[in-house]
Amino acid sequence: MSILVVEDESALAEVLRYNLESEGFKVAVAHDGRSAMEQLEDSHPDLVILDWMLPEMSGLDICRTMRRRPELRDVPVIMLTAKGEEYDRVRGLDAGADDYVVKPFSPKELIARVRAVLRRTKAGASGEPLRAGPLEMDLEAHRVRREGNEVALAPTEFRLLRVLMERPGRVYSREQLLDLVWGRDSEVELRTVDVHVRRLRVALNANGAIDLIRTVRSEGYSLEANPN
Ligand code: CA
Repeated sequence: MSILVVEDESALAEVLRYNLESEGFKVAVAHDGRSAMEQLEDSHPDLVILDWMLPEMSGLDICRTMRRRPELRDVPVIMLTAKGEEYDRVRGLDAGADDYVVKPFSPKELIARVRAVLRRTKAGASGEPLRAGPLEMDLEAHRVRREGNEVALAPTEFRLLRVLMERPGRVYSREQLLDLVWGRDSEVELRTVDVHVRRLRVALNANGAIDLIRTVRSEGYSLEANPN
């Protein structure tokens, strides 16, 4: 597995390189946004660790740019943020980051997150079920279970849930869901998204179970794998 570390503080970048390499990862380092983009284009890493504050181009901009490019869209991103910036956390996930780690952090913690994100994002490709909180999705058998109980879903709801399960906690706008579930060229209207989200909700939350789908007013929807 190859990881690109994008971090302008050389000392931290080297600590990360050392720790990731001793865990068996192949590591490349970029110190600014521009060289990060060049390296991303040249060598498609399996995961990117992306510092938020960078010279030339912010981590947020890099993440957004990656999500717009078909060849980089599926590369998972872990964002490094400064301490306690809740607002930034939301913006980071919204820009397409898969997870975030708040500075200062221990290399051990970061490596645990790296493994978790790789497990989650590679699940579909390896034939392993996709998991998020109480949900399990078997992509080959087209089956969904919530706490072991089968959830019957129509194909559109299945695709919609898959998108949401691949990045739990990320808020998707209706436009984004339309692109991802129906395809960019579809003629489907935006309110169709709401209709299918409603159906998915009913199917998932049968028997009064806690609602796993969060509606973010005027923003969109997300899957909350661990709602309280
Ligand atoms: Ca920085």
